[in-house]
Formats: sequence, C-alpha cells, structure tokens
Amino acid sequence: MDRKECEEDVLENKDHSFDFYRKIGARALLSRRPSGNAGHNGGAEWGFHRMTSSLPLGFVGQLGVPVEDEQVTVLHEYWHSLQHSFIQTTSRGNGQKYVPGERTRDSLLGPVWFGEGSAVAMAEITHAQLRASGELSAWGDGEWEWQSLEKRMSQKMSEVQASRNKCPAMANIEYSSQCIQSMGYSAGAWAVIFLLSEFSQDILLTEFHPVVEEKTWEGAFIHTFGMSSSEFYEKFDDFLELSLDDQLKLLSRY
Ligand SMILES: [Zn+2]
Repeated sequence: MDRKECEEDVLENKDHSFDFYRKIGARALLSRRPSGNAGHNGGAEWGFHRMTSSLPLGFVGQLGVPVEDEQVTVLHEYWHSLQHSFIQTTSRGNGQKYVPGERTRDSLLGPVWFGEGSAVAMAEITHAQLRASGELSAWGDGEWEWQSLEKRMSQKMSEVQASRNKCPAMANIEYSSQCIQSMGYSAGAWAVIFLLSEFSQDILLTEFHPVVEEKTWEGAFIHTFGMSSSEFYEKFDDFLELSLDDQLKLLSRY
C-alpha cells in the first residue's frame, strides 16, 4: 500500500477499518450499552495477521463486561490466525464466499459454519480448560456471572433450535445472512463439537489444516473425518433431534 491507499483503508473501509472498530467502542461508551466486535482482517499479502478490535470493554473495566468475554474473543480470533497460517495462497476469492473445490483463501477456510464454528468451539473449550487448570484466573468482576461451558453451549443450542426451522440450512449460511449468528456461529460451534467427538481435540491442527491447501476444504474434510460434508450434515441433523442432556454429554471430555 502507498500512504494514500493506507489512509483510505484505515478510514473509509466500511466493514473492517480501524475507524469502523473505533466507532463501535465510542458508541458503546456514549450510550452506556456494551457492544464490541473484532476480526482477523487479512494481512496475508504482507506476511502477517491483521487483527482488529473495538475497545475491549472487559479489559478496560467498562460497562460491567466480564474480562472473560474478552479472553474468549482473543482465543476466537487467534483460532482464525491458526486457520490462516496453514494457507499460503494470497488469492482472496470472491467476497468471503465458500466455493467448493476452489483454492482461494476464502474457499480454503470452508463454509462459514466451519470457519466460525471451529473458532467459537475451540475458544470456548480452550477457555474453560485454561480456567479449570488455573492458567487463566477467574476475575469475577463482571456485572453478570461468567457461565460454565455447559451453560454457554446450552444457550447456543437453544438459539439453534429456535431458528433452524426458519433459517436456511447451516451449509448455505453466508456472512450476509440474517441467520448468521444462530446458524453460522452457534450451529457451527455445535457441529464442530459433534465432529470432534470421535477424534482428538487437536485433530483440526494435526490432520485437517495441514492438508487443506493441497486437498481443498472438502478433500481435507473427507481425509480427516472419513465422510463427505453432505454425509456429515445428515448426521448433524439427527444430532440436533436429541435431547439437550444427550447433546451436552459431548462436553464431558473437556
Ligand atoms: Zn470469527
């Protein structure tokens, strides 16, 4: 980038600029209503991860947001940087859309449910484990009590159950979809927990991501999990029909 391009990007880029994130924090403080956003916003063409965040209200002790909220966000974005670190191509693809068989960065990250769902699931699981082992201390400083992994995942499951009959199938959710939160992030997180249930917790790092660029997303999926994504969608639909108690059993290993 030259200076002019950089200034345009920093100030005028509507969705991912520094100014976009700055305004979120400013508005939250002004309205006294907690709000935040963060993202892994490229950088591959320069050889680094460009991470951006609005004011982390929990870290700065504002508006009663628990520190834990921010810790989970950091782990979530860090998972995106791990996903990206296995991809060498700098070809971006077309508008954050997953195209089966394509080897652009966007397509190698997979469908939104997978890219976001694995970031949510790995952040939640890792956060709970780091707290249990004492590596992350429990702050207890928020205005609301920090919930257990079981409770947080139960909440996500109720979002999924409330919207899955009204929304497009998880496989077809895009960032612009109205159902992105429930059917992208929350259903995706449960899908990844279900997917991991018969494998080691590290399977994405040890088996999936190392071959994704060579085999494409679908190829890496079949290589790692021994089934196609369409076969998986059917199994996951059956899983969603189970009782919450049965679904939560998958969390006992963490
Ligand atoms: Zn994300």
